[in-house]
Amino acid sequence: IDVSVQQDMEKLQHTFPHFRDGYRLIKRIGEGTFSTVYKAEDIRYHDYVNRWDIDADDSQWTPPPLKSSASHMNHTSRHPRRKPKFVAIKKIYVTSSPARILNELELLHDLRDSPSVCPLITAFRESDQVLIILPYFRHQDFRKYYPKMNIYDTRVYLRSLFTALAAVHARGIVHRDIKPTNFLYDPDKKRGVLVDFGLAEREGTDSKPCLCHEDRQVRKQRLQQSVAYNSIQSGPQPGYPKQDTRPSRRANRAGTRGFRAPEVLFKCTEQTTKIDIWSAGVILLTILCKRFPFFNSADDIEAMIEIATIFGNKRMKLAGQLHGCMFDSTIPTISSQGFSFEKIMLWSTCRSDGGRDGTANTLAPEEKEAIEFLSRCMDLDPTRRISAEDALRHPFLQVEVD
Ligand code: ADP
Ligand code: MG
Repeated sequence: IDVSVQQDMEKLQHTFPHFRDGYRLIKRIGEGTFSTVYKAEDIRYHDYVNRWDIDADDSQWTPPPLKSSASHMNHTSRHPRRKPKFVAIKKIYVTSSPARILNELELLHDLRDSPSVCPLITAFRESDQVLIILPYFRHQDFRKYYPKMNIYDTRVYLRSLFTALAAVHARGIVHRDIKPTNFLYDPDKKRGVLVDFGLAEREGTDSKPCLCHEDRQVRKQRLQQSVAYNSIQSGPQPGYPKQDTRPSRRANRAGTRGFRAPEVLFKCTEQTTKIDIWSAGVILLTILCKRFPFFNSADDIEAMIEIATIFGNKRMKLAGQLHGCMFDSTIPTISSQGFSFEKIMLWSTCRSDGGRDGTANTLAPEEKEAIEFLSRCMDLDPTRRISAEDALRHPFLQVEVD
């Protein structure tokens, strides 16, 4: 082990004097923006083995089995969870605000019985240092398995992800940071768990009414009013206004570049659980196109340009208007109509040269089903985008896990 990691682990044991009585640190498994995660052995586990009547060799915690498609609505039957031998210890950086840490713990506690969500075992605090103890979940690096995934594997993966999302959303919680590193998946066991509720929030917190939740007529009216207002203020001016008199917009933009939904980029003030569905759609797009990362923007403007390149100027303009925003571009690579997901998948998997050689490359029927599902997840309009619950009923997610 790296010397600095060793030092970090010693410091942690020093901060928590009784740590060694309960856990034996093994290695560092993750280092993110907000925390460092270690794998550790729960040494009190051995005391529990007889009492809990479990097989001591079963060292990896597994979440309860996924219910088959037919019975997915029935989340109530609780599975007895085994006490895990290995744990993940998430050491939150001391620079995180107490409110933020409390928020993560409260949401994890709310979700303790939710399928496919990594449960909270316990947490410790010593002055400004907080540790979150979770069962260790064996998983593989997304980069390793996504290139090999076929359509069946993709269905199974997404069913697991959407099961977690449906449970989280049913409690009115928005995860806000859905991406492969926050969904720990084990391709051998065909199981995954959702982790990292560090940016999550309850739907409706800090939200102000946005035009996107008004009906079409009202939206049209308000938009015309605001256009009129702006031309009175500064006269119609092409390009970026030098003296922008419009009120500035503030909205939650937390999340990861490349996975942010269009309404997050357009600073919608009334964001919902649908932002997670868009991000899950980006994961699906990545798997289908075999490109990771699919989007690779440095900032929000670039992210909008990437999305506009797919959807075209026309639809992007309408998407902006939903939230009272104007979208316009003179970038030549953004066409008016954009491209279909089917074309993008064919191009990125090198099955089409854009029709130049005349070969009629088309997708297989199950790939078409995947694309249809993708277009439901990546709908620019959050109010029309599929919900996690409906997604679990979509033909693409009807799959028996063997
Ligand atoms: P951060 O807020 O720093 O992103 P995460 O909760 O996402 O923290 O954890 C960071 C990484 O640590 C994850 O991507 C994963 O590799 C690893 N990790 C987190 N929780 C677990 C767990 N329960 N089991 C195994 N590995 C985990
Ligand atoms: Mg994370």
